[in-house]
Amino acid sequence: MNAPLPRSSCVAVVQAQGGQPVPACLDALSLALSLSGAGERTLLAILAPNPEPVARDLAGQYGCPTVAVSVADGASAGSLAAVLAGMVREAGAQWVCLGHTPFSADLAPALAVLAGGCCVPGVEAVERGEGGPVFSRSVAGGRLIQKISPLAFPAVLTVLGGSQTPPEESVGPAGEVVFREAGAAPEGIRSLGVLRRTGQEPGLADAEAVVAVGRGMGCEENLGAARRLAALFPRGVLAGSRPACDLGWLPHRCQVGITGATVAPALYLACGISGAFQHVAGMRGSRFVVAVNRDENAPIFHVADLGVKEDAVNFLPLLAQACEKRRKEGGS
Ligand SMILES: Cc1cc2nc3c(=O)[nH]c(=O)nc-3n(C[C@H](O)[C@H](O)[C@H](O)COP(=O)(O)OP(=O)(O)OC[C@H]3O[C@@H](n4cnc5c(N)ncnc54)[C@H](O)[C@@H]3O)c2cc1C
Repeated sequence: MNAPLPRSSCVAVVQAQGGQPVPACLDALSLALSLSGAGERTLLAILAPNPEPVARDLAGQYGCPTVAVSVADGASAGSLAAVLAGMVREAGAQWVCLGHTPFSADLAPALAVLAGGCCVPGVEAVERGEGGPVFSRSVAGGRLIQKISPLAFPAVLTVLGGSQTPPEESVGPAGEVVFREAGAAPEGIRSLGVLRRTGQEPGLADAEAVVAVGRGMGCEENLGAARRLAALFPRGVLAGSRPACDLGWLPHRCQVGITGATVAPALYLACGISGAFQHVAGMRGSRFVVAVNRDENAPIFHVADLGVKEDAVNFLPLLAQACEKRRKEGGS
């Protein structure tokens, strides 16, 4: 028989891959911790083929009671949603937070339907409203911000990676860990596995630093310094605006924006990029944005934490050289 779950108004669902939590799921955990009532402990659900090591790590780090859900090979979102809906019911949860990942695009709505609540995808921020929390998310390709107040509960939220501050660690005792299983019963679709593209650089979605180049770089031959800067980070990736990809300087899988990838790195360095909303829609979740542009009126400066008004073609080699020198001297 399964060990009973503690009552909690908030559940954070964390996918783990390769023994690590998927980064966007830590944003979900942050939001769940902030939605939990005073003195209350958020319930954590870890989804992985072998969830126990990650479950024990996170239960220790955050002091949350944790359910290690072992996910059978080929388990569908439907079968996982059924297990999670049962847990949400048992815990009496009002809020369920997931990372905004391709997998949660299947899982979250199914879970909301099974649990009899509602689904709010792509949450970027929360504020206190008169009737409870009010969530914000980007719509119309990032041109508008929609405010949402859920009316049906439990409310299943998918949280944009990079939108929250990192979850606060607990100084208290580790949370207890209990176990559940999600079978492979196919419902609607059967997942045949997830493969890494051959020859692909580290994933844009999981990048720690993105160096993005735009038309302002002038030509492909000018991208060398941007490439060197990206290589200085363990999970650094070179990316581009749509023109940079359309011009053939970079493959299309490197495009950031509304018709490309959505990224949420700790650092986004935009070089020779104007800041059209179609581009900004894909990088606004970045934690710290540095923009290099020779036009002080370029819209990219509106979303930048640090703006450099310079010719990027001249500036980037100097920056790369300074960073490489610092790295050699033992700095970070
Ligand atoms: C339906 C649709 C979908 C789209 N999807 C995307 C998308 O997913 N991603 C995307 O990026 N775009 C997308 N676009 C295109 C988008 O509208 C912009 O045209 C594009 O983002 C502009 O790219 P850019 O900033 O590289 O080029 P530009 O707009 O040409 O800007 C170049 C910038 O570089 C600066 N500059 C020039 N020379 C230098 C120099 N030497 N040093 C420093 N700065 C310099 C200029 O001041 C300028 O600000 C889409 C458009 C449509 C209509």
